[in-house]
Amino acid sequence: MSGAMVAPAVPKRTDVVVVGAGCIGASVAFHLAGRGLGVVLLEKGHIASGATGHSGALVRQHYEARLGIRLARESLEFFQRFAAETGFSCDFRTTGFLSGARTRDLPAFDALLGLLQQEGVRAVRLRPEEARTVEPSLDAADYAALVYDPDAGYADPIATATGLARAAERRGAIIREGCAVRSIVTKRKNVTGVRISGGGLIETERVVLAAGNWTASLARPLGVRLPIRFVRGDVSILRRPIGFGPPPKIHFDFYGNTYSRPDGDKDTLVGYMDTNPRKTIPQHELADDSVLAATVRDLRSRLAKRFPSMAQSQPRGGWSGVYDVTPDAYPIVDAVGPQGLFVAAGLSGHGFKLSPALGRLLAEYVASGRRPEGVIPLRASRFQEQVPIRPDAPFPTRRGARLP
Ligand SMILES: Cc1cc2nc3c(=O)[nH]c(=O)nc-3n(C[C@H](O)[C@H](O)[C@H](O)COP(=O)(O)OP(=O)(O)OC[C@H]3O[C@@H](n4cnc5c(N)ncnc54)[C@H](O)[C@@H]3O)c2cc1C
Repeated sequence: MSGAMVAPAVPKRTDVVVVGAGCIGASVAFHLAGRGLGVVLLEKGHIASGATGHSGALVRQHYEARLGIRLARESLEFFQRFAAETGFSCDFRTTGFLSGARTRDLPAFDALLGLLQQEGVRAVRLRPEEARTVEPSLDAADYAALVYDPDAGYADPIATATGLARAAERRGAIIREGCAVRSIVTKRKNVTGVRISGGGLIETERVVLAAGNWTASLARPLGVRLPIRFVRGDVSILRRPIGFGPPPKIHFDFYGNTYSRPDGDKDTLVGYMDTNPRKTIPQHELADDSVLAATVRDLRSRLAKRFPSMAQSQPRGGWSGVYDVTPDAYPIVDAVGPQGLFVAAGLSGHGFKLSPALGRLLAEYVASGRRPEGVIPLRASRFQEQVPIRPDAPFPTRRGARLP
């Protein structure tokens, strides 16, 4: 008798098909299965092969809009109890978050700190000399004040998406990797199924497009136009020099345009904070996801201005990925086009950290047919209505969109 495992066949019919097994699709599938719905999760590559597997996976609460702070707070709590919720580890590590402000930006800095505190984030204000005890390797000489949130951290994005997907499976969902959705089938403006690679059809009345950078092109044949552009994101891994000291916290350097966090015990992950307009790219996929050596050098020298001993750090690799960005840099989470079609798209660099809350909310919408209050501001029509998400406490006031 063969000991080979036989994968369950894709059913002919299901309650909901979720397209894409990144952190968003896996989270939606997990929450839908928890509501007792039949779910088929289809992934053209492998779990987390899209932006999720390329993510910096920072989990911070430091947002300038109330909406972002609330979604991030709920999600952070989920990451903290991930194992209890799913039965799997996402390797969430609490690091703390630090960021500084120069004198001219102090009014905006204090307004944002007040907003974070009002929303229940345990953020505190530090003087530069106090920051030295929290972060001994940091050069805070140009900062007039810093904000410190002890609860922020990062997780393993591949373990996160896989844990959510496998937990969904334990709740009865069927997962198919290497199975691409070719089109959404409709009849009289209602979703009736999805056509998959190889020509098979799964009948369903509800489809969730969580296909990351591919969502807009899957929705377009149905007359749905999503205002999403693509931006390249580069990440470098640097081995900290021996004697660096304790692992650093997450740091946002608004003046040097880097974000950084520890990566395991010895390395630091660093990337660019702001959208570089020169990096806006027409295609949603990179032919080559390796990072250029010149980019690694640039990231290292920027980081060394903040953490001087990182000038002696050793590059240990890195990668590039693609962000899907909306005009206000907030996701679109909505029902769009034919009856039964839902999207979570344009995650704009927040998709990893917000995936627990967005998955819960979208699952509630799909299951109940009623749009939960939490996602009303994320409706697709907000751009035509000219009510984009705006920061409640912008910081600093002159800058481009912020991604990670
Ligand atoms: C360099 C970089 C750093 C980042 N850092 C952070 C960070 O620190 N914190 C944070 O919160 N966010 C970060 N992000 C953003 C975050 O990673 C994304 O917002 C998030 O991963 C998006 O998840 P997703 O599930 O929507 O998309 P994806 O992870 O791209 O998943 C979509 C999946 O759909 C599949 N798919 C596509 N088409 C089909 C089809 N036709 N049929 C079946 N499957 C299909 C794809 O193969 C893919 O696996 C970063 C992104 C990048 C690129």
